[in-house]
Amino acid sequence: MRLYSTLQHELVELPPPPAKVGIYVCGPTVYQRIHVGNGRPYVIFLWLRNWLQQRGYEVKLVSNITDVNDKIYAESEREKRASADLAREMSDWYLADTDRLGLGRPDAEPKATEMMVEIVQLITELVGSGHAYEAGGDVYFRVGSYGDYGRLSGQKPNQMSEQEPNPLKEDARDFALWKATKEGEDTSWDSPWGKGRPGWHIECSAMAADELGPAFEIHGGGLDLVFPHHENELAQSRAAGQEFAHIWMHNGLLRLTGEKMSKSLGNIQTLERVLDEWGRETLLLFFMTAHWRSPIDFSPETMMQARTQVDAFRELFRMKFDRSTQQFPQGWDPEVEARKFEEALDNDFNTPDALAILHKARSAWDQDFIKERLSIFGLDSLAAPEEEAPPDIVEWAEKRQAARATQDFAEADRLRDVIAAAGWEVRDVSDDPGYQLVKGD
Ligand SMILES: [Zn+2]
Repeated sequence: MRLYSTLQHELVELPPPPAKVGIYVCGPTVYQRIHVGNGRPYVIFLWLRNWLQQRGYEVKLVSNITDVNDKIYAESEREKRASADLAREMSDWYLADTDRLGLGRPDAEPKATEMMVEIVQLITELVGSGHAYEAGGDVYFRVGSYGDYGRLSGQKPNQMSEQEPNPLKEDARDFALWKATKEGEDTSWDSPWGKGRPGWHIECSAMAADELGPAFEIHGGGLDLVFPHHENELAQSRAAGQEFAHIWMHNGLLRLTGEKMSKSLGNIQTLERVLDEWGRETLLLFFMTAHWRSPIDFSPETMMQARTQVDAFRELFRMKFDRSTQQFPQGWDPEVEARKFEEALDNDFNTPDALAILHKARSAWDQDFIKERLSIFGLDSLAAPEEEAPPDIVEWAEKRQAARATQDFAEADRLRDVIAAAGWEVRDVSDDPGYQLVKGD
C-alpha cells in the first residue's frame, strides 16, 4: 500500500499488514456550519480506514475538533454570544452533518478544550529545551532553533511572510504556542505564563501525541493546511523529540464552479444544504470521481453527473439474475478485475480508477462484484432492495414540497427532520413529483 506524501514528494510504502496505522486528520474549527468542502477530507479518510482495515491493517483514525480559536472568538463577538456556547453548538452540528454521510465516525474525536493539560505540558517542554520562549504572557516557538523548518511546505526561511506579527518576538518567523488573554476573549486557562489559551498549531501536536503516541503513520488534511499549520505542527513535535507522522497526505480542495454558484451561492454551500439537495449517495459518488490529491469541481453539472451514475448502479440492482446460469460477456473476468481494483486502491488510493472498474462490472451485469466493494465507500445502500414509502411519509414529503414552493424553508427543514426521524430520507430531484424518498440505513 503506497500513498503520496507531501514531505518526501513521492509515494511512500506503508509497513505490511497487520501493522498498526495511526491516522491524524485536522478536523474543523467550529464557528459555523461546515462547508461541503470540509466534507471531503472527512469522507476520504473514513474510506481509507475502511480500505486499510480490509487489507488487514489495525487502524486508528483520529480527527480533532478545534473549539478554541481566533475565528470562534471573532464570530461569537459578532453574534454577541459566549464563545464556548457557539463552539458547542457548531460542534454538535458538525457531528450531526457528518453523521448524515452514513460512514460512521473516526475512532477518536478529541476537542482542544479537553486537552489543556497535555497542551500546557508540551509547551512547557519546548520552553525548557530552548525551542520556545515567553514574551509578554505569550509563548512563541523559536523557528531558528529547528533546522528543518520549511521542509514540508518548501518555504525558504529568508523569504517567509510573517506569521502573527508582534514586536515582542525575537524573530519575525516565530509563531505563537500560547496567547495571553486579550480584550473581548471570554474563555481562558491557567498556565505558567498566566491566563491565556493555546495557539491552533500546538493543539494538534498535543492531541496527535495523546491519541497516537510520538510516532504514527499518516497525517492528513486539506492542501490549504500545509503552511503554516502543518509546517508548525511538524516543527513543534520534532523539536519535542517526537518522530511524529511519516506520511503527510494533503487532499485537493473543492472548487465551486459554474458562474451562478461561485458568485451568489458559494458561501452557503454547507454540507447540510448539499445533503438536502443531492442526498448522501450522490455526494459520496461525486467525491469518488476525483483522485484525493486533485481539486474537485462542485457544480450542478458535476453533481448531476454523479447522480446519473448513482441511478445507473441502482438500476442494475433492480434487475434479477439467476446467478447459477448467468454468463458474463467476453472481456469481463472477475478475478482479473478484482486484482486491478485492489491495485488501484493500493496505489495511492485511486478512487476514480476503482470507480471505472465498478462501472465495467455494471456493464457486465456482475452484481456480486459491485456489491462486495460498495461498502468501502459507504454505498452498499445502492445494492439494497428498495422499499416503497408508507402513506404518512409520502404525505409529509408532499407538505414539505408545498412549504418549499412558498419559500418556507424553516417548515421544510422541520418536515425533513420528521421524515428522517421516521427512518426515511427525502431528496429533491428535478423529475416529478420533485422529491424522492429513500429508506435510511
Ligand atoms: Zn491540525
